[in-house]
Amino acid sequence: MRAALLDRVVRLADDDLPAYVYDLPALREHVHAVRAALPDRVGLLYAAKANSDPRVLGALAGHVDGFEVASGGELGHVRALLPDAPVAFGGPGKTPTELAHALDAKVERLHIESEHELRLLTGLLDGRTVDVLLRVNLPVDLPADLGRAGLVMGGRPSPFGMDPARLDRCLELIAAVPGVRLRGLHFHLASGLTAPAHLALVDGTLAWAEDWAAHRRGVCLSEVNVGGGMGVDYAHPHQGFDWPAFGAGLRPLLARHPGLTLRIEPGRSVTAYCGWYVTQVLDIKFSRGQAFAVLRGGTHHLRTPSAKQHDQPFEVIPDDVWPRPWDRPEVRDEPVTLVGQLCTPKDVLARRVGVARLRVGDRVAFAMAGAYAWNISHHGFLMHPHPTFHHVEEAEVPDPGAYARRLP
Ligand SMILES: *Cc1c(COP(=O)(O)O)cnc(C)c1O
Repeated sequence: MRAALLDRVVRLADDDLPAYVYDLPALREHVHAVRAALPDRVGLLYAAKANSDPRVLGALAGHVDGFEVASGGELGHVRALLPDAPVAFGGPGKTPTELAHALDAKVERLHIESEHELRLLTGLLDGRTVDVLLRVNLPVDLPADLGRAGLVMGGRPSPFGMDPARLDRCLELIAAVPGVRLRGLHFHLASGLTAPAHLALVDGTLAWAEDWAAHRRGVCLSEVNVGGGMGVDYAHPHQGFDWPAFGAGLRPLLARHPGLTLRIEPGRSVTAYCGWYVTQVLDIKFSRGQAFAVLRGGTHHLRTPSAKQHDQPFEVIPDDVWPRPWDRPEVRDEPVTLVGQLCTPKDVLARRVGVARLRVGDRVAFAMAGAYAWNISHHGFLMHPHPTFHHVEEAEVPDPGAYARRLP
C-alpha cells in the first residue's frame, strides 16, 4: 500500500472500520496506461457492473471512450453522473421498460441478446433509430487453464447471446424495420483470460465475424465488440493483465481487418487494483491447533473471496498501542484463517495464510477490492453496519503521527 493511502488508512477511527478506500490517482494512472497500450482503432468501454462507485466512474471518465451498462439501474446511474458519456447497453433479460429507457436515453449502442429482445425493441421504436450489435455465442475452444478462477459465458450452452444459426432471423427482422441499424457483432465469451489467450480469442472471433458478414447480403460489418474478461490474478496481485502485449498483438490483427473498429469492455482488470477493504482484528483464537483471526465486517462487505473461492490478498498494518491490562492475543509465524463476524463457516476472507505476526487491534487491508467487491456483497447480512467509504486524492498531506496520537 503506497504511503498516501496508508496515511489515510491509519487516520481512520476504529469505528470507521471496515472501510473501502479507493486510490483515485492510482486508478487514473492505471487506466491511462491501459488506454496508451491500445491501438487507436480500439474503443475502450468500462463495464460499470465491476464497480459503479460515482467517484470511481468520474475518475475513469476522461480515460475511456464510454461505459457498458447491463441494467436500467446502471444506465440511469451512469447517465445521471456523466450525461455526455457514450453508453452501450448490454446484458440478458432486458425488460420492455429498460429497452424504452435505453431508447429515451439515446444509448450509443444496444447489444441485442435474442430475437425476442429485438422484437420487443422494434415495437418500441416509434420512428426513432438505434444502433445495435447482435451478441453471439460462438462455439470456440476456451483455454483449458481458465480453471476455477475464470467464468465461461459462451463457447458452450449458455443463456448469453445467441447461437450463430439464430442470427439470420434477426437479420430478416432488421431488414424489415427502418430504424434499427446493425453496426456489427458482440462477443463476451469468458473472463479470467491472459493476454495471449485473449488475443487468440479476438483473432478467431474477428475471422469468424468477417466470414459471416461476407456471406450475408446487405450486412456491412463495421464494428466488433469482443467484451471484457481480461484476467486479474488474486494469488499474484502484482501480476496484472499484460496490456502492452495485448495492445501490441492487436496491431497486426487489426491490420488484417482494415474496415473494422474493435471495442473492448473490461471491468475487473480496470478497477480491481484501486480498491482496499480495510478492517481490524477483533479477536485471535486457536481451535484444535489452528489459528483464526476474527475481523470486523466479513464477506457481507467483501464477497469476492467467497464468490471466487480464493484467498483475498492482504497486508497487515500493525498498531503497537495496546491499552488493556491483559496479554494481547496474537499469532506469530504460522498460518491463520481470516474470518468475518458472520455466524456461518463460509464467512472466510483468507484461509490458512502464513503471517509473521497478527494481533488483536492490528489493521488488515485487503487488496484487489476495487471490482466485484462491495457491489456484489450481501450488505444486509446480520444487520452489521456498512463500511465507510474514503477516496484518496494526491492533495492530502501525510501526518505520520496521527495514528499513534489518536489512540489512548
Ligand atoms: C461482465 C461483463 C463484462 C466485464 O467483464 P470483466 O470480466 O469484468 O472484464 C463485459 N461485457 C459483458 C457483456 C459482461 O457481462
